[in-house]
Amino acid sequence: MTTTLAYAAQSASSLVGPFTIERREPGPDDVQIEIQYCGVCHSDLHTVRNEWKNTLYPSVPGHEIVGRVSAVGSKVNRFKVGDMAGVGCMVDSCQRCASCGEGLEQYCENGFTGTYNGPVFGGENTYGGYSSRIVVKQKFVLRITHTENLAAVAPLLCAGITTYSPLRQWGVQKGQTVGVVGLGGLGHMAVKIAAAMGANVVLFTTSPGKAEDAKRLGAAEVVVSKDQGAMAARQNSLDFIINTVAAPHDLNPFLALLKRDCTMTLVGAPDRPHPSPDVFGLIFKRRRLGGSLIGGIRETQEMLDFCAEHGIVSDIEMIAMKDINTAYERILRSDVKYRFVIDMSTLQA
Ligand code: NAP
Ligand code: ZN
Repeated sequence: MTTTLAYAAQSASSLVGPFTIERREPGPDDVQIEIQYCGVCHSDLHTVRNEWKNTLYPSVPGHEIVGRVSAVGSKVNRFKVGDMAGVGCMVDSCQRCASCGEGLEQYCENGFTGTYNGPVFGGENTYGGYSSRIVVKQKFVLRITHTENLAAVAPLLCAGITTYSPLRQWGVQKGQTVGVVGLGGLGHMAVKIAAAMGANVVLFTTSPGKAEDAKRLGAAEVVVSKDQGAMAARQNSLDFIINTVAAPHDLNPFLALLKRDCTMTLVGAPDRPHPSPDVFGLIFKRRRLGGSLIGGIRETQEMLDFCAEHGIVSDIEMIAMKDINTAYERILRSDVKYRFVIDMSTLQA
């Protein structure tokens, strides 16, 4: 075992602060990574505050990890010391079930192991990227093909894949009109990726001040979702919607934006339920309400390569590790442009 510096929450009401953890020595199939940057996902905040009622403490969050390989096991053939590498939301899965067989480890029928808070999905507690080093099975390590701006690549490992996967699953195509609800970490990646896929992106926001940014990021149009007139003008006009909002809200005004037979997919994971959608809004247009969880390892690599090819990274604000609690408060005020990334060289005991 190697003693590793980290930041952890000790309870739902405590701040995240310095902590030390033990990482295993790399086994034959393991890659050891010195973490350079770690993105801050709203899921980190839901977890440290036990909002999903499943947190195991101490909790070391962080699942948008990029860094440099510092050791590899004897059977590792895809990485060598010195390579850049990424780790997203999963570090293991059963590898035997039908979902794993299809490369959909996030839907593993025996439960995948999360990069942090692992026991929820089976196995021991796992500690995430708010730490200086991590050891991960080769199969769950991603290759980084971006050559610059590495800190801004980190958020692709969760925010990028969580939005790329449903856009692909629901077959978004050039020329379609795609709605993105919420311009936070996930939402801003959805705007960039859907625009790169050739979609005509309409951003729905509660923050009128974000309109200019949304256009710069690739949205063709911005609608303030509290403006009923603007919402009415967009009824029955969208081919697909990805809803990234992290809080319970009325889904009906958004479902009404869909054309017949089209789908709104939820990726936001609030701690309390949304009010039930109106049945008539669904049945009269054969509309669908769906959900989607991150993405499999194969698709995560595909997304990283797609983003490298299209020059897509996250818009980030870099922070020092000690400023993480302030960053959480800003996330809660929707005051993030558009992802905080921790510079892990600032991690000190
Ligand atoms: P975030 O950066 O906080 O962005 C969420 C955005 O939602 C905000 O910026 C805001 O955008 C909007 N919003 C927030 N509160 C709202 C409210 N009360 N009413 C309406 N809009 C509101 O969070 P994130 O990191 O993108 O994560 C979003 C959600 O996705 C979280 O619940 C997270 O846990 C979940 N998540 C799910 C998956 C998955 O696999 N499905 C993966 C990662 C994260 P505007 O200012 O533009 O309105
Ligand atoms: Zn995440």
